[in-house]
Amino acid sequence: MGAKRSLALASRLRAGAYAGLRGLKPILRAAPVDWLVRPYYGGIGSVLMFHSIVERAPKSPIECDFEVFKRIVEHVPKLGYQCVSLDQLAGGEFDPRRRVMVFTFDDGYRNNADLAWPYLHERSIPFTIYVTTGFLRRCALPWWLLSDWFHDDGVTESDLRRSFAWTDEASFAEVAAKAYTVGGRESVERIEEAARRDFGELIQKRFEAEFLDDRQVSSLAGDSLVTIGNHSHTHPVFKGLSEVEIDAEFETCNAILRGLTDRAVKHFSFPYGSRSQVGSREVGLAEAHGFATIATTRTANLFPKSDTRRSYVLPRIAVNSTTSLRDLELKLSGLVPMVMNLGRRVPTD
Ligand SMILES: [Zn+2]
Repeated sequence: MGAKRSLALASRLRAGAYAGLRGLKPILRAAPVDWLVRPYYGGIGSVLMFHSIVERAPKSPIECDFEVFKRIVEHVPKLGYQCVSLDQLAGGEFDPRRRVMVFTFDDGYRNNADLAWPYLHERSIPFTIYVTTGFLRRCALPWWLLSDWFHDDGVTESDLRRSFAWTDEASFAEVAAKAYTVGGRESVERIEEAARRDFGELIQKRFEAEFLDDRQVSSLAGDSLVTIGNHSHTHPVFKGLSEVEIDAEFETCNAILRGLTDRAVKHFSFPYGSRSQVGSREVGLAEAHGFATIATTRTANLFPKSDTRRSYVLPRIAVNSTTSLRDLELKLSGLVPMVMNLGRRVPTD
């Protein structure tokens, strides 16, 4: 079987297994099945992945209600986990008899500093914010938020049609749907150009309200519980980039963060870290760049670093407002990752 066909088959199997898991969810939630899989799939612990933490009704899967966030933070120690930083994880500086938990946040949302930081600091819980420096400097655009920004500001459908009137008649939604695919860079550029031309003031206002700025990153870095990680400069799909472009993403982001934090930047998370967006070439380039840990969005728990790897490649457990405490337990036990990865413990391909 060709590599392409076997990949397609694995992806169909994975989708089928996940659909089956969703159907079984009510039974699994009630049944004490965790202890069966935990010894094989629980690993040495987990890395939790958050994005935006909000105090209003969440509008998208990357937003987590602050109340849900607090419940999860309080539940983790009750499950026997020790919370560690990425440096402690990579350096093996933890009690080997207890599972580890790492809290991470992607993109650099301002609410990470306003809401999550005081809450975690008060409990002495270390955490990492992976910052996209193009958002920090307002020169890259988080295009996935534009629909909400336009909607909140009362921008009408006809305004949008006028601004995003591309020659091939593609709608804003059609172009946006392609933006996170491997060939999506052109779509992102088309959206950015029109959005900045016609909605520049609105975009600037929302950037200030929703994303960290230089001063906040420097203050965060002054807290020994906080790690500032690299989340690229422009938030591209890495599989669509050349090696030179990938190095520039690592280096530009590192240089800006080093300047603001006065610390070496040792940890990286891929923007869009799924199988179709990040592969072994991209992970290898991040390892060659010297990052101590490299986070993806593959769903799995942590297993000890293999001797052949220069860096610790971290799958993560995504959390948002729809994650109940029982759902979290099923993920941490390894049951959900086991099904999603078709039985493999460490999804690195
Ligand atoms: Zn991101």
